[in-house]
Amino acid sequence: MRLYVDQDLCISCGACVGICPEVFDWNEEEKAWVVKDPVPAELMEVSREAMDACPTEAILEK
Ligand code: SF4
Repeated sequence: MRLYVDQDLCISCGACVGICPEVFDWNEEEKAWVVKDPVPAELMEVSREAMDACPTEAILEK
């Protein structure tokens, strides 16, 4: 699974970074971005939790 964060949709709420900091982190614009591409198998479930938790559905599959 390969993910990215739509920078125009991210409102910097912190949900994804809080749920799965191994995959999501802040960039210099203080928006979330995906630091593991592709997402390792062992982090797929928690990454999907982060996707579901995103209030603006900014986390998308490539
Ligand atoms: S959960 Fe969505 S809106 Fe919140 S920081 Fe992550 S990508 Fe941005």
